[in-house]
Amino acid sequence: MNDTIAAISSAGGPIGLIRVSGERAIEAVDAVFDTKNGRPLTQAPGQKLIFGTLYGVDRDPIDRCFAVVFHAPHTYTGEPMAELQCHGSTAVLHMALDALFAQGVRQAEAGEFTRRAFLNGKLGLSEAEAVHDLITARTVEAAQNAVAQVMGAVGSPVQQIRDELTGMVAHFHAVVDFPDEDIDPVLFEDAAALLHRTTTRLYAMAESYERGRILREGVPCVILGRPNAGKSTLLNALLGRERAIVTDIPGTTRDLIEESVKVGKLLLRVTDTAGLRDTTDPIEQAGIDRAMAEASASSLILAVFDGSQPIGDEDLLVLARSAGHRAIAIVNKSDLPQQLDRKLLEQHFSHVVSLSAKTGAGMAQLLALIPGTVGLGDGAFDGALITNARQAAALARAAERCEAALYAAQSGMTPDAVVMDAEGAIAALGEITGDSVTEAVITRIFSDFCVGK
Ligand code: GDP
Repeated sequence: MNDTIAAISSAGGPIGLIRVSGERAIEAVDAVFDTKNGRPLTQAPGQKLIFGTLYGVDRDPIDRCFAVVFHAPHTYTGEPMAELQCHGSTAVLHMALDALFAQGVRQAEAGEFTRRAFLNGKLGLSEAEAVHDLITARTVEAAQNAVAQVMGAVGSPVQQIRDELTGMVAHFHAVVDFPDEDIDPVLFEDAAALLHRTTTRLYAMAESYERGRILREGVPCVILGRPNAGKSTLLNALLGRERAIVTDIPGTTRDLIEESVKVGKLLLRVTDTAGLRDTTDPIEQAGIDRAMAEASASSLILAVFDGSQPIGDEDLLVLARSAGHRAIAIVNKSDLPQQLDRKLLEQHFSHVVSLSAKTGAGMAQLLALIPGTVGLGDGAFDGALITNARQAAALARAAERCEAALYAAQSGMTPDAVVMDAEGAIAALGEITGDSVTEAVITRIFSDFCVGK
């Protein structure tokens, strides 16, 4: 039997939430909470706010607040649960927790409520993992994708494919178990049709991870350019507010600043960098080294050039650094007389835009270019995308095993060959539904969660 756990589930704010789950959840909360109507919480109807007084370890009142009880099995974790909705101060919340601990309740570990929900069959594994995405979503689209996953947008099709493969394997087993019967060629044909469909579907799902990851994490983006090209001004324009320190002295943007900028449905994680140039100033050099490292790992480079100046040696460094990356060349200061040779940039970059970071002219064109440049055109977010590396890897493995089974079915191999690969695919899909995961994997998955969820 599970012990009873509690945690603060709210993240600051005027109202604080404490969740308790386990066999003794309702009794434990009842012991620290007197209802106004005098009825014990153990006899209270489920899912109703009940007003009362909350007491600390020494029976001193610590809050006037609400309690809610949830009777098993219709609860998030499947166990008896109770919640305290108190005033949100850390002092009140910690006194309340201590009072519960004195009742034999223990502190919940990270993700332990959701882990229990999964272990008690209330949530599939992919649905449970999506809860984490939903909590950490930074854009509306990422949250929408996550909630679709919580509702089964990944788990349901995977379960369905797994069931179909299991049915097929059972059929083959039945035939193999009666070896005197000739194997019906129709069986191989049907199997091949199913495996073909399934392989295509699984590869498509696995490949959606590339876009899903961008949706969830955003696109790392680095602004490169020589000192005074206008990098900080561009970052400010992207952010729509003053943040980076913009000055006229070359090399003043010494440190890296990461900011998230929403470009349409896309979250750009923009790093503004120190000017790219040879320098003997150690602080500046450190900034440049980091800028270089950022650039090699980043998905998108915004290479800023000062359009009012001819191309210089430092600009050539930026050109070299941008090669081989998804990059957009920005000819900045378009409001000033232009001296820069745009043709040279056009030879190196597939996208060159003129911009005045100062006046905002050309900004719309730049923003319109970005999603396509990072591989996200229009309509890229249809359906639920895979946002989880573990699931993507399992899907890819399942797809490969299905493809191998398809080959076996088509090339007239023994039924065993088809069955072996199909079973491999079933096991890989079970890693997503949770049917074939080890304890260690489950522990790792839920340890990424926050405490209280
Ligand atoms: P950084 O060193 O690359 O970060 O460059 P800053 O953003 O600090 O800009 C250097 C100078 O260029 C500042 O005086 C800015 O006001 C100016 N500047 C930046 N963008 C523009 C622009 O589009 N037009 C004009 N006229 N000046 C700009």
